[in-house]
Amino acid sequence: EAPKSLNFIEHIIEEDLANGFPKERLRFRFPPEPNGYLHIGHASSICLNFGLGLRYSSPVNLRFDDTNPVKEEQEYVDAIKRDVKWLGYNWDTERYASDYFQQLYDWAVQLIEEGKAYIDSQSSEEMAAQKGTPTEPGTHSPYRNRTIKENLELFEGMKQGEFEEGSHVLRAKIDMASSNMLMRDPIMYRILHKAHHRTSTDWCIYPMYDWTHGESDYIEQVSHSLCTLEFLPHRELYDWFLDQVYDKTKVRPKQREFARRNLSHTVVSKRKLLKLVDEGVVNSWDDPRMPTISGLRRRGYTPESIRNFADTIGIAKRDNLIDVSLLEFHVREHLNKVAPRVMGVLDPVKVVITNYPEGKEEWLEAENNPEDVSSGSRQVPFSREIYIEKDDFKEEANRKFFRLKLGSEVRLKNAYIIKANSCSKDTDGNITEIQCTYDPRSKSGSGTEESLRKVKGTLHWVSIKHALEAEIRIYDRLFLDESPDTHKDKDFMEFINPDSLKVIKGYLEPSLKNVEIQDRVQFQRLGYFCVDQDTSQGNLVFNKTVGLRDTWAK
Ligand code: ATP
Ligand code: MG
Ligand code: MG
Repeated sequence: EAPKSLNFIEHIIEEDLANGFPKERLRFRFPPEPNGYLHIGHASSICLNFGLGLRYSSPVNLRFDDTNPVKEEQEYVDAIKRDVKWLGYNWDTERYASDYFQQLYDWAVQLIEEGKAYIDSQSSEEMAAQKGTPTEPGTHSPYRNRTIKENLELFEGMKQGEFEEGSHVLRAKIDMASSNMLMRDPIMYRILHKAHHRTSTDWCIYPMYDWTHGESDYIEQVSHSLCTLEFLPHRELYDWFLDQVYDKTKVRPKQREFARRNLSHTVVSKRKLLKLVDEGVVNSWDDPRMPTISGLRRRGYTPESIRNFADTIGIAKRDNLIDVSLLEFHVREHLNKVAPRVMGVLDPVKVVITNYPEGKEEWLEAENNPEDVSSGSRQVPFSREIYIEKDDFKEEANRKFFRLKLGSEVRLKNAYIIKANSCSKDTDGNITEIQCTYDPRSKSGSGTEESLRKVKGTLHWVSIKHALEAEIRIYDRLFLDESPDTHKDKDFMEFINPDSLKVIKGYLEPSLKNVEIQDRVQFQRLGYFCVDQDTSQGNLVFNKTVGLRDTWAK
């Protein structure tokens, strides 16, 4: 493989190393907020950060950015850990911003003592009104010049739970005239009388993102703190907060930004995905229609396919929309290599092979995967009555129809050449049965002249009496619009595809009897399918991962 060219983040790191930054002090982190399940956008960030860890042999922390107890839950922490592991990455240490609450509090007290932070007791509306505009400076809060003593007492009171939510906040005293609105005395702490999933009721004041993130990076000695572009204007504040605590013997974390990845025909925002779950549009966070890592897993995606997708799109400096067909391309490509081939008929019509003895059955050898010789073969049963797909038969058709039609031949995969002679119909004209004859000398793999005879068209099939019935779930795009959450006048919920799930009954070859949840197979000629977790003894459920070709009409 050709060596991959460096992305712009790697160039930044290379430059730092060239300027003398010690390689052994490189450290990265992936910092999810546990307020939902990870989605395909996060995969880009995970692959970036853990990929850097692998490239430079550096530790990567998994840090939960858990500063908002209102939205965070242990369930999400567990799901995030499961998903990162499943993607194939190992973190160095598991960290929580909440582990730093005491340190952050102590540093906040230090800022108050240095006259760099104050308690504001205005309403949020009053504070917003004083913010000014990007071109006009803001106005000072009437509380900006409280004495240090008063500030310390109030902050202590906030911590002790003496005040109601919204009655006071701690603000950094920076510059109400800054051209960067985020520097206009940003809030560092707010009161929230809410139990936290880890610290329970120990705290009733919680630090804001900006105050927490950089200091957490510093505590963990993260060298390069990579985040998405919307944080670019926050960088100045990140640096200001670091300046307050930075000790020159330590690594000073560097925030750098890359573009958020969006995927077409879906939404990648935990908040919006939560809405889909809460409103019952999907069944759960891991519904196979969801762009979550757990949804993709349940749909049949492999970790390799997601990593390859993330690698291919790389990282960018500008936000953009990636077509979901690229993601599908990657899973198709990987499953082609690893998924065993099996036969299943999803829309059956009965075929009777009139010259095949009644009561006879034989087991024919079938190759498991032509892409992987080591995968061996299996036996599939053949008998007088089989199913083929309805649309593989027409009474009459032109020369380009390489499937079964009256008076002509096709090969049954792994079996014989058959010829259709007649068919029966119900009173509505639907075909109910096709009568065929087979050529007994044409058995696949038997080496006879007839077995090598070329016929146009090979069909998959299953022996009716041996077939396993299974529930097959077929998915379509969850949204009808390419970019559902970018419309000014319409909510993304208006674009939901009402037919994103179709449940049908399929008939499968009996080798699938002992499949396990998550097993992935190719139903020949139909696509890739994966065993759903709803499968139980005697009740097989498959999810369609993706078709064999990109056939979705755009
Ligand atoms: P969401 O809006 O879905 O909650 P977020 O950015 O708030 O996204 P976090 O849990 O804070 O979610 O994300 C963890 C990391 O993943 C952050 O560094 C974030 O920038 C990155 N990330 C999140 N979404 C994307 C995306 N669509 N593309 C690339 N990186 C992303
Ligand atoms: Mg975030
Ligand atoms: Mg978020």
